[in-house]
Amino acid sequence: MFYDELKKYDWNETTKAIGSKTARDVEIALSKEHLNIDDFMALISPAASPYLEQMAQLSHRYTLERFGKTISMYIPLYVSNACTNACVYCGFNHANPLTRVTLSLEQVKAECEAIRKLGPFENLLIVSGEFPSLNGVDYLEKVLKVARPYFNNLTIEVMPMKERDYYRLTQSGLNGVVCFQETYHEENYRNYHPRGMKSIFEWRVNGFDRMGAAGVHKIGMGVLIGLEDWRTDVTMMARHLQYLRRNYWRTRYSINFPRMCPAEGGYTPKVVMSDRELAQLTFAFRIFDHDVDISYSTRESPSFRANMMKLGVTSMSAGSKTEPGGYVSTPDALEQFEVTDSRTPLQVAAEIKALGYEPVWKDWDKIFD
Ligand code: SF4
Repeated sequence: MFYDELKKYDWNETTKAIGSKTARDVEIALSKEHLNIDDFMALISPAASPYLEQMAQLSHRYTLERFGKTISMYIPLYVSNACTNACVYCGFNHANPLTRVTLSLEQVKAECEAIRKLGPFENLLIVSGEFPSLNGVDYLEKVLKVARPYFNNLTIEVMPMKERDYYRLTQSGLNGVVCFQETYHEENYRNYHPRGMKSIFEWRVNGFDRMGAAGVHKIGMGVLIGLEDWRTDVTMMARHLQYLRRNYWRTRYSINFPRMCPAEGGYTPKVVMSDRELAQLTFAFRIFDHDVDISYSTRESPSFRANMMKLGVTSMSAGSKTEPGGYVSTPDALEQFEVTDSRTPLQVAAEIKALGYEPVWKDWDKIFD
């Protein structure tokens, strides 16, 4: 399990190693076809900042080779904001006195129909808080069955589960699972996640092994940018990705680097990542792993998403509502985070086309299940 692997790496030593990288280390990394973790650290280090243009060109080249001129489109469906956890940075935090909504199956159906009217989406990301008795495996299985006729590709972003539960859901149309480790800093992780199952670091970080063992076709991972030193966190994530590729090589992987937005809980990010730094990180990951899907959500602005489209990003959400029931009506329920790109899916698709790329709505078929 990755938790045992992670123990081999010291957080502070990793931070120090990244800080000690030089221009020479960056040049060595850029001269290689296949990078190791040391090279990756060089590319995300401050020493790589003057090499951004060169990194962008390399990232563009690898992306074009592996993905062509395409951007895969997906949309999230928030089915429940009930949550027993108390993540200090999240509007769905158990302690926040907001209206809790768990959609009925009829409401899920209505949301699916509303989404289909927004654009020809086939990739649906089903998102839920963590409240096992309300939105646990039984509920999710039913949601998947309701959504299946409307979408060819179903992914969930919900509580980490047992291997047998992941397997069970793959039998009901589940194709992918997204889970954010949030941070790999185990000690501080406990401060950000003080209660509920999410407070158990080991359970969460080993969840990816359980997904792989259950045969989940695609695994999405990420850290929340704003909690800890982002360079150290993404290095741990790169190690995690390498480990997963070695052990669950049949699975496809995607990554995402959400930059924290203000939430209802009023949490102020401890670390702020600039656009330039996010671009550097995106290029570094593409140069490190040519095949990984890199996703940008509507947290990012339209202009930044457009600029990054040709330089490493391969999938984007559009038209997102981050509150349960948001596609059918404007409910009282609170959004999980503020959306920055509020354009319609068809407007986003039109821009992708105008930039010479193709928006891909469907890249999986039920027949492969
Ligand atoms: S981040 Fe997820 S688990 Fe944490 S409070 Fe929000 S919805 Fe619940």
